[in-house]
Amino acid sequence: MAGKTDGSTGGLAGGRNGGRQLCLHGHFYQPPREDPWMDTILPEGSAAPARHWNERICGESYGPLAWARRTNGTGRIIEIVNCYEWMSFNFGPTLLTWMEQQAPDIYARVLEGDSKSLERLGHGNAIAQIYHHVIMPLATDLEKRAEIAWALADFTARFKRPAEGMWLSEAAVDTRTLELLAQAGVKFTILAPRQARQVADLKQENWTEANEGNLDIREPYLVELPEGRSINVYFYDGPLSQAVAFEGLLRNGDMFWGKLSGLAGKGLLALATDGETYGHHFKFGEMALAFALSQARAGVDDMRLTNYAAYLAENPPRRRARIHENSSWSCAHGVERWRSDCGCCTEHRPGWNQRWRGPLRDGLRAVKTRMDSHYQALGQALFTDAEEAVIQYGRVLSGLMEARAFERAHFKKGLSAARRDTAWKLLNMQKWALSSFASCAWFFDDLARIEPLNALTFALRAMGLGMRTGLEDLEPLLLSHVGQASSNDPAEGSGHDLWTREIRPRRETTESILAQALVRLWAENRLPAPGESAKVSWPGLGVSVGMGLGRNAAAADNTLSGTASIAWSNESGSDDCAWTWERADTGGPLAGCVQVEHAGAAKAPAKCVPASYLSWGKRQALALAWAHRAEADSWARQCAETKQGAHLFLPYREAQTTQTSAGRWGRLWSALCWQWIMGEVVPSRDFLDFLKDLGQVHPERALLGLRVGEALVALLSTQAPDYAPDYAPDYAPDYAEVRRILERAATLGAEPDLWPAQNLYWSRLRGDPASREAGLALGFEPG
Ligand SMILES: [Zn+2]
Repeated sequence: MAGKTDGSTGGLAGGRNGGRQLCLHGHFYQPPREDPWMDTILPEGSAAPARHWNERICGESYGPLAWARRTNGTGRIIEIVNCYEWMSFNFGPTLLTWMEQQAPDIYARVLEGDSKSLERLGHGNAIAQIYHHVIMPLATDLEKRAEIAWALADFTARFKRPAEGMWLSEAAVDTRTLELLAQAGVKFTILAPRQARQVADLKQENWTEANEGNLDIREPYLVELPEGRSINVYFYDGPLSQAVAFEGLLRNGDMFWGKLSGLAGKGLLALATDGETYGHHFKFGEMALAFALSQARAGVDDMRLTNYAAYLAENPPRRRARIHENSSWSCAHGVERWRSDCGCCTEHRPGWNQRWRGPLRDGLRAVKTRMDSHYQALGQALFTDAEEAVIQYGRVLSGLMEARAFERAHFKKGLSAARRDTAWKLLNMQKWALSSFASCAWFFDDLARIEPLNALTFALRAMGLGMRTGLEDLEPLLLSHVGQASSNDPAEGSGHDLWTREIRPRRETTESILAQALVRLWAENRLPAPGESAKVSWPGLGVSVGMGLGRNAAAADNTLSGTASIAWSNESGSDDCAWTWERADTGGPLAGCVQVEHAGAAKAPAKCVPASYLSWGKRQALALAWAHRAEADSWARQCAETKQGAHLFLPYREAQTTQTSAGRWGRLWSALCWQWIMGEVVPSRDFLDFLKDLGQVHPERALLGLRVGEALVALLSTQAPDYAPDYAPDYAPDYAEVRRILERAATLGAEPDLWPAQNLYWSRLRGDPASREAGLALGFEPG
């Protein structure tokens, strides 16, 4: 019956014939965009003002879904919904790796969404996703097994439970992939309806041809596999998913709900789209989703929310299916989109072709094949089982297994330090080589796009690791294929041109790493004093920089020198060197020149590497490090100045209507406002009126809004326990101060960024009766 208010009923209701069940699935994924040396994402100009696309889509979609607002007619917030708690989802492991480090609050909501759905339904909302989003039918057997094993290890490490389902990249499937999924214990996957070839009842041979028109998608199907295993397959609702993704169904929550409710019936209504549809492709799409989820949670129209695993447990398949080999959800030609000019993705650019896809796939495959045989040849002497070592390496990457334990389990006994180093480099080579096959390199319309260039960069990194373990330079082999490809834009040229211009300069050398470490220390105002050292870290490596004691008498005063040690993550050993940094008299910090001498190496003529040779992304990252530090310093200085200076504002004299040199005060407006908003300075009525007037014309208020928003979070979160019945009475967030700050900010026309404070209030404090007034001030409906 209708009237179930939320999911607290334990998930036991229903059953094969109970209720109309709904599963909304989001596939969340971003192409790997890490610099493969630093293992960090460098700035991407097209995502500006965000640093790069991960950050931008986090702001537009992943964050809004974690805290989706439901508002009343006057715009007040009635509820903040964690959509991950109510929708089925899969996230790319490489995306979650980034999110864990760079957006931990959103990441925590994703994990919480899974654990709460697990409590409610007995099965969590999260399912796994192929580790590097490779097109599985185009991968080798070892690659398939590694991609599945790494994905499962990553899932277990994050969600603290084994995955029940796995999303196949682009839903690209062949029987061998299903076989390996089943072997790994995966219970189900999700395909597009047109990937079904034939269906029959269980244990009967009444096979009939299936197509999108006649396939009953309301039930899971059993796919029986050649080696005796089987796996469950769901087919999602194609037309509905299409309407959500491309036809604007999310523009209106009522319309969205009406469509869902109209289509639901016996069995499961499941729709699957890219998760980014909500908020990124359709701004405020997360609000339409939150509305639909709240309707279903309330049992409106006798609907009930479930997820694939929970439904499967209650409704085991009654029919079998056979699939179309080498099919996918986003290419009508099978999996050709990822290796040939099949005709997909030509609609927006008449006259363009995708003939570049073949040579790109062939080139990457040729070097990977050579790397694999090198790996096998060396690996025999290093690993107890070289293939098994690759498959299990995902446990190290996910943190499930310590490096030392991995060595004990998979390295041959008694390896020297140098041989262990080689073994780790080989595994790292495998990782970046796999990364180069992420599907997005072929998905779009041109070779000169960021995704194919990233794929080639991953290959360059893998080839470099190979060379450090004795493999020949594979660049000629790669270019013999990729050189035959061309961008559709004549200005971008051939694959050869792109390689020379865009890819090769990205290769890190000891000089380029030292240049970045030194300039970053300068940018962050952390250059060590003589005789001291400082550490610079990126996820992929750490550099310990020691500053020499004296200046080189022969060198100019602006030359620094010292030593450095570079340690690579997931490798053993370190690269040690001595460095000299000739800083330019003019032209800024990037115009200088870094030279390196390797410890123990024969004295080679030192190369001078100007930091200005670094790639655009690396220079931009250094510029941002400077801007971040300089802005913080400048704000702190202005705050210190205005705390004193605000007292120098004088009352107006007879007939005076504004402050003498009002413009100068205006340029300090944000910091002056901050003093009053935060209660540091109590201004005169004249001063306050003056600040209000200035606020009418003052253009830059974003930084003030950001700082006030941070201050609100600090006031609400200081030692805050999660609000609970056993709430400690001696603890109280300063609600009154929160209210006062918001009132003062409103008076001055300052626009605080309320998003994080609202999120915190909703998730931890709203149950506290003392918080009511602060809640109102933060924009919530009176509760
Ligand atoms: Zn196609």
